[in-house]
Amino acid sequence: MPANRALRPILVTAVLTGAVGSVYLLRSPSRHLHSAVREPTKTFSFPSTMFSSRELKVRRVEQINHNTKRITFELPGGESEVSGVPASSAILIQHTTPASWLPTFRPYTPISPPTQQGTLDLLVKHYPHGEASTHIHALQPGDTLTARGPLPGYTYRPSVTQPRSLILIAGGAGITPIYSLTHEILTTNQKDQISLEDLERRFPGRLNVTYAVSGPAKEVEELGDVKRFRKGYVDGKLLKEAIGRCGGRLGDENGKMVVFCGPPKMEESVMGLLMGMGLAKKDVYKF
Ligand SMILES: Cc1cc2nc3c(=O)[nH]c(=O)nc-3n(C[C@H](O)[C@H](O)[C@H](O)COP(=O)(O)OP(=O)(O)OC[C@H]3O[C@@H](n4cnc5c(N)ncnc54)[C@H](O)[C@@H]3O)c2cc1C
Repeated sequence: MPANRALRPILVTAVLTGAVGSVYLLRSPSRHLHSAVREPTKTFSFPSTMFSSRELKVRRVEQINHNTKRITFELPGGESEVSGVPASSAILIQHTTPASWLPTFRPYTPISPPTQQGTLDLLVKHYPHGEASTHIHALQPGDTLTARGPLPGYTYRPSVTQPRSLILIAGGAGITPIYSLTHEILTTNQKDQISLEDLERRFPGRLNVTYAVSGPAKEVEELGDVKRFRKGYVDGKLLKEAIGRCGGRLGDENGKMVVFCGPPKMEESVMGLLMGMGLAKKDVYKF
C-alpha cells in the first residue's frame, strides 16, 4: 500500500457517511453450522482480565506520520488466540514511570479486527510529555507492554425496522474507535485489515469518506482530490453536506444516527452545530 494512502485515514479529522441498513440481514450466520468448529481462546475477557493483566510482546513498529505509530503486538497464546476486544472497545495500558510509585492507566482502542488471530494492533499518537504515549512510542520489537481489559464499550445494534444511515465523525486519535466500528459494520466476520479508502471502494454506495484537513493549505492541495480533502475543521457546511447525502429527516427514529469521537474542543463545536441543525442529544452517540 503506498505510504500516503496508508496515512490518510489516520492523519486527519474525518466525516464519514455510510448507509448500513442492510447489515442486520448480513449478520445472521447460522450458528449451529459453526458449533463444531472450536472457538479461538481470547486474550482479554471482561471482567477477569481487568484484575489480572496480560503481557503483549511487540512484533512490529511502523511510523505512520510525525507523531503517530502503529504497533503490532503478539498475543500471549499465539496464533490460536484472538484479542477478545469487541469492535470499538478499548484496552487499558498500564505503565509505571521510574519517578512514580503508582502505575498510569490509559485506554487505547485496537484498530485490528476482533477476529484477527495471533496479534493486536494499536495506533498511538504521541503527546509531548504524555506518560503512556511516550512509553508506547519508545517500545521496540521484543519489548512487552502490560494491558488489562477490555473496557465495556459501545455496541452497535443494526436497525431492525428500516435501513439506517450513520454519520460517523472522528477527530485526532478518535479515528480509532470510529474506524473499528466502520470496519465491523461493513465486514462482519472478515479477518482482513483494510484502510478506509479500501472499504469505500469495496462497498460503493455504503461508505462515503470526507477528510477535513487542518494542516497548511499547500499540504491539502497536494492531497489532490478537493472534494475529498477539505481545508479546515469540520464545520456546518461539511456536516450539512454529509447529512444531506443520507436524505430524509434527522434523528435515529428516522433512520439517521450520528456517532462521534474526538477531542473536547471539537466535541463542543460539532455538538453545537448538530444541535443547531435540529438533532437531539439522544441521536448522537459520543465515545
Ligand atoms: C476510550 C478511549 C480510547 C482511546 N484510544 C486511543 C487510541 O487508540 N490511540 C491514541 O493515540 N489515543 C487513544 N486515546 C487517548 C489515550 O488514552 C491517552 O489519553 C493519550 O494517549 C494521552 O495519554 P498520555 O499518558 O500520553 O498523556 P498524559 O500524560 O495524560 O498527558 C495528557 C496531556 O497533558 C500534557 N502534559 C503531560 N504532562 C505535562 C506537563 N508536565 N506539562 C505540561 N503538559 C503536560 C501532554 O502533553 C498531553 O497533551 C483513547 C482515549 C479514550 C478515552
